[in-house]
Amino acid sequence: MDIQTALSQIPTATTEALEALRIQYLGQKGELTAQMQALGKLEPEARKARGAELNVIKTQLTEAISARKTELETEALNAKLAEEAIDVTLPADPTYNGRIHPITVAMEDIASALRSLGFTHAYGPEIETDDYNFTKLNLPAHHPARQDQDTFYLNPFKAEATERYLLRTQTSNVQIRTLETVKPPFRVMGIGRVYRRDYDLTHTPQFHQVEGMMVEAGTNFSHMRGVLDEFLRLYFGKPLKTRMRPHYFPFTEPSAEMDMECLFCKGTGCRVCKQTGWLEVLGCGMVHRNVLAVGGLDVAEHQGFAFGAGVERLAMLKYGVPDLRLFYESHAAFLRQFGKPAISAA
Ligand SMILES: [Zn+2]
Repeated sequence: MDIQTALSQIPTATTEALEALRIQYLGQKGELTAQMQALGKLEPEARKARGAELNVIKTQLTEAISARKTELETEALNAKLAEEAIDVTLPADPTYNGRIHPITVAMEDIASALRSLGFTHAYGPEIETDDYNFTKLNLPAHHPARQDQDTFYLNPFKAEATERYLLRTQTSNVQIRTLETVKPPFRVMGIGRVYRRDYDLTHTPQFHQVEGMMVEAGTNFSHMRGVLDEFLRLYFGKPLKTRMRPHYFPFTEPSAEMDMECLFCKGTGCRVCKQTGWLEVLGCGMVHRNVLAVGGLDVAEHQGFAFGAGVERLAMLKYGVPDLRLFYESHAAFLRQFGKPAISAA
């Protein structure tokens, strides 16, 4: 047994080599263990001296092995810590909170602008009868203007059927329902979903409209112009030049389409406004006498105006979005760009 060789090997031994050395000398069948067992064969005097000697060797070996073991464990721990270290100065992965959809934001902004002009919310169902969607709005059966709106009908036409149901093609059903139930004077708005069988760059089968109607004694066309100018100023957040062009709607007379100065070129002409400097924003007019009469009002006594606009159109113009379908294709990056935070940072 060469104790000096063992003691010189221990300080540089690997974990496996160290264990091998421990077994070689101190194991049950180890060299030192064997010598200890051999003590019994010696004379008492010699046994005492050799025993003390062997104990010193055992202590040296045990301490050296233990010290090396501690050293190896510390090395292993340090290596592990270095490997698993987290650099807290690195930028974190971005996290995103949910945002309110830009169309919902637009509807809230539109409602808020109209509320400040005295309009209150009115209701019209999305599943509507042919009567309220067309006939009572001065669009009798076979009226050619019905062709302009590709309607989703819910039950097939039968001569004997009393009601024909459809998905409303316009929020104007709110007009009739209000006229039938609310006594003038009133200013109401209806904002919600409408449906048409159409799908391209500027049409989706389901979209949103805002409808407004004001019926008050003496209401005239210039009141309408003033209200609409103010509405656009509030919604777009700045005063805008507007103009009106004569138009035809079955439920208003006279009717007009309203344009506002192009938001993108400020009237000088660009691709969005097709070089005209103007953007078409809404349709409007004085409520048709036939519609007032259907609503049960005395047309000699009452008059009012109504207007309607596409919510998506207003949102596209406000945010400069070129394709309507982007609003409905659930691209997270797009929605993050235009939506509003669900919870304010304050
Ligand atoms: Zn323009």
